[in-house]
Amino acid sequence: MTKTQRGLISHKGQTRYVAKQPSGKAARRQRTTMSLVDLPMDIILEVLGHVEPLDLLNLLATSKTFKNLLMKRSSRLVWRRARANVPDFPECPDDLTEIGYARLVFESHCQVCDQGRSYDVRLVRMWSARARFCGECLEANFVQKETGKKLKNIYPEKVKKVLPTRVPWHGHESIYKPLDELWAKEYKRLKTDADRDHWVKKKVKERKDIEEHSTKLNRWFRLEWEPELVLRKTLRFQQRQAQIMTRLRKSGWEEELRVNRSCDNLLDDRRVRKACERELTEKVLDELVEYLEIFLEKVKEQRLKSIPQQIDGSPPTRRTSTRTRVVQRNVVDLDSE
Ligand SMILES: [Zn+2]
Repeated sequence: MTKTQRGLISHKGQTRYVAKQPSGKAARRQRTTMSLVDLPMDIILEVLGHVEPLDLLNLLATSKTFKNLLMKRSSRLVWRRARANVPDFPECPDDLTEIGYARLVFESHCQVCDQGRSYDVRLVRMWSARARFCGECLEANFVQKETGKKLKNIYPEKVKKVLPTRVPWHGHESIYKPLDELWAKEYKRLKTDADRDHWVKKKVKERKDIEEHSTKLNRWFRLEWEPELVLRKTLRFQQRQAQIMTRLRKSGWEEELRVNRSCDNLLDDRRVRKACERELTEKVLDELVEYLEIFLEKVKEQRLKSIPQQIDGSPPTRRTSTRTRVVQRNVVDLDSE
């Protein structure tokens, strides 16, 4: 397999989807992980036993050292343990490797055009096709069964029936084209009727297993994983909001934030909310604090103006109660008599 190869491939008797490999940007993140790389191997493996598959995938993209380590056959146990750390996550199916399974489920970009790596894209996960698509790539990779002009049609109907299909909103059943092409190639290479019979039986069995696993996976993903992702996203958002508040307090705004009601909705600002959707770098934090300080200066000035001034121009130090004021007035009245 070459470095640039992508799409469906046959490898050691298994059908795999090869996505585009991470770009050079990943390599630039290397410096942040050097400390972990420097640890003894048994400790690294111990640490990796407590993470989830998505953490391993992120690590894989971070440095060549981790890539070499995690792609080794001997690291299968690490991937298996990571999978076990995700509650109720269905077992790895026979048609996928542990890494391939983790990539299919936990990565969130289109496997064909890569959309979604740097921004959110609405994806369709076709578990039975073992692939994720953006809207455009989904349409491009499925061919309408009724017309079927672009389909190869060289292998028996029995096999054609088990190809991954989808029924889009317009109701015409479509067939997954890349698998049709791959199967056509495989079928063409078969020399004898016995080989062809064996191939047909194998494909039908494989597809049955994949469909069964896909049903299980789909159920887990919709009922368990998607709600978990929403929860984690909300938590991250709130943590970033807390980061901003901490910075403002450290910058001397503690008192203002506490006493001024105009600050209550400070974090509802559109720019702040947008920034909190992503990791806050030091630079972004500085810019946000600077931006919010302009607002804080303004509301502080308004607050101070609204406080009744004493004769000498200074604000009253303590607000007196109605009862105290009545007592004070009575004392003055007595004095004047
Ligand atoms: Zn795409």
